[in-house]
Amino acid sequence: MREARATKFSQSIIFKSLLLLILSTILIAAISIFFFARGQINTLINWSSNNNRSQLQQMTIAVNNEIRLFVNRIIFLSHTTEIQSLDSTIAGTYLNSDNIASIFNDDETINLYDDEHNLICERENDFADEKTSIHFDVTKIPKHNSFISPWFFNEDNSMPTRVFSSEVIGEDNNKGLLLANFSFSRLEKYFSELKVGKNGFVIAISENGEIMYIPSFKESGRKQLRITDLGFEAFNPKRYEVPAPTFVKLKDGQEFLVNYEYSHAFHFGLISLQPRNEIEAMASAIKQSSLLFLVGTCIVICLISFWMFTILGKPLNKLIVHMKKITQDNLDIPEIRFGRREDEIGQLSIAFNMMHSTIKRQFKELQSHRELLEQEVAERTQELEAANQKLRIMSRTDELTGLPNRRDIHDCIENEISRVSRSHKPFCFIFIDIDHFKKINDTYGHSCGDVVLKSVAQAIRGLLRNYDIVGRYGGEEFLVLLPETDLDGAAIVAERFRQQVEELSIKYADYLINVTITLGVSKYDGRLGADRSIQMADKALYEGKETGRNKVVVWTPERISEEDYRAAAIEMARHR
Ligand code: GH3
Ligand code: MG
Ligand code: MG
Repeated sequence: MREARATKFSQSIIFKSLLLLILSTILIAAISIFFFARGQINTLINWSSNNNRSQLQQMTIAVNNEIRLFVNRIIFLSHTTEIQSLDSTIAGTYLNSDNIASIFNDDETINLYDDEHNLICERENDFADEKTSIHFDVTKIPKHNSFISPWFFNEDNSMPTRVFSSEVIGEDNNKGLLLANFSFSRLEKYFSELKVGKNGFVIAISENGEIMYIPSFKESGRKQLRITDLGFEAFNPKRYEVPAPTFVKLKDGQEFLVNYEYSHAFHFGLISLQPRNEIEAMASAIKQSSLLFLVGTCIVICLISFWMFTILGKPLNKLIVHMKKITQDNLDIPEIRFGRREDEIGQLSIAFNMMHSTIKRQFKELQSHRELLEQEVAERTQELEAANQKLRIMSRTDELTGLPNRRDIHDCIENEISRVSRSHKPFCFIFIDIDHFKKINDTYGHSCGDVVLKSVAQAIRGLLRNYDIVGRYGGEEFLVLLPETDLDGAAIVAERFRQQVEELSIKYADYLINVTITLGVSKYDGRLGADRSIQMADKALYEGKETGRNKVVVWTPERISEEDYRAAAIEMARHR
């Protein structure tokens, strides 16, 4: 019997589906992540460029606002009564008061001039010197918000500086001029706090391309530096424009993403520089996290698949093995169970168990039916065999006398011949015929004849040894077979038969009937064969009849003629 096996992995549709699911998910995830990661660097560059530009724009607005605030303060100052007094003491005291100190930086000077450009008073500070007090023709200076000098560097602290003026109208319509230095130190806090990406920075330049602020100043101190010194070529601050995104390679060999904004109101430019490797690092970080996501997806999908296989494939396989066992006549195996599952698998196991118990019940019923049927068949067979046996016996038995009939006698002779051929022992025939039997029939009737026949048969049988055989050979003829007996022995037996029958008185109705028999004896001769040997006994019987009846005639071998042997040989040859 073949062992009930589960489905192989290579043949499992669930396993194949899950494998396909895993592979397709991984493939799709890998392709999308590949394209996503590839596009990411460009997106990041564009995003960084836009981000940096908007930061620069905000910065420009903030710086513009700071400068405007400064200008407004100057205008406001020029309208105060103290300044309008154009008096050196009053205005000087005011300019050096704490109020003014709190709204101006230490390195910012404020000078008040009269109509003839003579200095009336000034704000005294550590940096105050004559250089900022440029003499102008007051009449040529435009009123309000005047921006009257380019950016220059304060010689004391190298801070970029710019001079603003405001017209002062005194009490008697006397005119004066208020000049103030705007110091870049006001803006430094903006720049130092400003971050471009992680490691990027902003450079502020004047309209001439002189660097007003660069973070390296913090470490190395301020010094005269031009934007072209960094590696920018042919840089025109007012016209410089770069298509976004643009990278420039500076003198230190590093590549930077560059953005530029120029303030036409206050003539300064702002350059943002973000290292290219920083953006690339961001892209590779994204790539790494994408890869991590891919690995995570794979693990999750594998876990889901494993779970699916456990809850679906395994129970189904168990069910298949169970089914196979049942189909292999193993009906008594216990029910299949999958815990307390109520899903499709649980329902399937319940339905299967129901089917199993139905099959089991029906099989038992069938088996008991079969047993009954087998029992009945056995009984019938037994009866049939008995009937056959009876029939066999009947077919070989003479009905009237109960002796073997002629056919059976012949079979017995055949057996005896084959036995003799091995043992070489002699055996003899006695042919018996009742004398004048016709007369009995005629005198007492046929049924009387039957009674006589039976009685003679019984008498002969009563004298036989166990292994001798007597059969009814014809109407009132009997043939006796005497195994292991020679002619002399047979003659004695025959004589005993004759005497026994002679002494027999058969009762029929009111009559007592006596009969005699004549007997012919012969020995089986292999050269003659069975039939011819019997014929010799018949011949002896005939002679007995002819010579007076009620006697035994032995047909000795000498009386067998050559003619008999020849005829027997021809018969046997024909027979063969
Ligand atoms: P023989 O002494 O020469 O033998 O004279 P026989 O009258 O016996 O002559 P035969 O042997 O020729 O006669 C046989 C008779 O036996 C003929 C037949 O009617 C009778 N017979 C044969 N079979 C039966 C039988 O089964 N029952 C009865 N009642 N008679 C039978
Ligand atoms: Mg006869
Ligand atoms: Mg007779």
